[in-house]
Amino acid sequence: QPKIEITNLTKVYQGRNGDVVALQNTNLTIYQNEFVCVVGPSGCGKTTLLNIIAGLEDATAGSVTVDGQEVWGPGKERGVVFQQYALFPWKTVIKNVEFGLKLRGLNKKERREKAEKYLELVGLKDFANSYPKELSGGMKQRVAIARAYAVNPEVLLMDEPFGALDAQSRSQLQEELLHTWEKEKKTCFFITHDVEEAVILAQKVIIMSARPGRIKEIIEVNIPYP
Ligand code: ADP
Ligand code: ADP
Repeated sequence: QPKIEITNLTKVYQGRNGDVVALQNTNLTIYQNEFVCVVGPSGCGKTTLLNIIAGLEDATAGSVTVDGQEVWGPGKERGVVFQQYALFPWKTVIKNVEFGLKLRGLNKKERREKAEKYLELVGLKDFANSYPKELSGGMKQRVAIARAYAVNPEVLLMDEPFGALDAQSRSQLQEELLHTWEKEKKTCFFITHDVEEAVILAQKVIIMSARPGRIKEIIEVNIPYP
């Protein structure tokens, strides 16, 4: 059944040099437990689309629903991993991961346990008490991934989450993500500029074209998972 429904979505930014049509009349249905990858040239509206689904940006026209409900602001069913990892610099690594759990009402002990589990998953257990500035870019990105996974959202929205990682960490986290997706029946919306990564991960690859941003083609990938 449809998890995310995007109908006639248009987004126009008021730029310094006039209006920028980032998305024009975009339609897309994403089903429960579907893994969708979005590829396309820089500026074609990928991040804009994700931000609107996440409830972080308003659409100019059209609608986005999650579970049949119009999206108004961020919701607990959606977890986002940004391209720029956006950690709190004044909080330790583990406190950054615990932050989202606090918002969901988990107590201190539950937060600590969950945060530790997901830091271990991304290979950063030994850095729990470090501060973001002490970590490399790839490590910070892994903290951001742990933070999103820990809140256990039904929909994972990921904007080039593995872009800053070395090849080995990337394939490890790809595997982990596929495992989570399969086991826990997540819906994944994943932006990448790496077509190979898209084909490895997705059941459906959405190809967008620029100016104005639209969906050019949707390719079903039928490679069975290992
Ligand atoms: P990418 O192409 O890798 O997705 P961008 O460099 O286009 O990243 O965008 C980085 C950030 O800057 C995004 O949050 C985007 O919303 C914002 N941004 C992009 N273009 C503009 C612009 N013309 N004016 C203001 N903000 C912009
Ligand atoms: P992508 O993620 O595919 O690189 P974006 O969604 O970041 O594309 O951007 C789509 C278009 O909208 C680009 O032309 C970008 O410059 C423009 N844009 C994005 N954010 C803003 C913004 N905050 N203000 C003005 N223009 C923006």
